[in-house]
Amino acid sequence: MPELPEVETIRRDIEPYVKNRAIKAVKAVRERNVLKGIKAKRLEKALKGQRIERVERRGKYLIFKLASGNCLIIHLGMTGKILKAPDRFVKVTFDLNNGKSFYFSDIRMFGKVSFSKTYPVLNLGPEPLADDFTPALFNERIKSRGGNIKALLLNQKFLAGVGNIYASEALFLARINPRRRAGSLKFAEVNKLYQALRKVLLSGIKYRGTSVSDYRDASGRMGGFQKRLKVYDQEGRLCKKCRSPIRRIVIGQRSTFFCPHCQT
Ligand SMILES: [Zn+2]
Repeated sequence: MPELPEVETIRRDIEPYVKNRAIKAVKAVRERNVLKGIKAKRLEKALKGQRIERVERRGKYLIFKLASGNCLIIHLGMTGKILKAPDRFVKVTFDLNNGKSFYFSDIRMFGKVSFSKTYPVLNLGPEPLADDFTPALFNERIKSRGGNIKALLLNQKFLAGVGNIYASEALFLARINPRRRAGSLKFAEVNKLYQALRKVLLSGIKYRGTSVSDYRDASGRMGGFQKRLKVYDQEGRLCKKCRSPIRRIVIGQRSTFFCPHCQT
């Protein structure tokens, strides 16, 4: 599933391509599966002639901000893509007034396209890379929480944009066991996890995301961070630090990868 670095990579790819262009036409197939809260005809009417001012990211959402203040909102779900050239899984086509188009493509259709007259309220936790997200704030949010730290990091209302890949990698880097009770972490550990999260997310962006399965950028190319994974999807391989085999366990129905020796 695309996480913060993948969605941010797509945002950076697509923004210059659509910026200051107006939407000329919108076509959707399988609209009931793909559009949320709006029918295809209404969406086309709402978007037609509207100029795209910028593309923002909030958590795993892409927000196409229109000059009118209206917003087109896209969540990529499991396998969603935003593409500059169509593939065979295109569900929504957006034609621009310069003769080009961009496409929302999705094989499994857990992604969603929606429209909002105003800037959307998304009920998400803080952005981990924002300047106002500090170790003190992270500590404040963690200390009252029950449950394990791995599941908490995946909770979008707790922290926006982190998913299975980057949560596993950050916990490894911070040497914290994914089953640790969140509220039991000491400030020094929270601070280590904070630094680790920012490091893996920034690195994920730098290498244009992780393509372990479907993720591709807006030109259909693979990311590069999968070559740098230390624990995620590495079950049975030897830890790069201590040579112990990486283990896979299931936490909250999600695969979690860790080194039992480094992350005690
Ligand atoms: Zn290790």
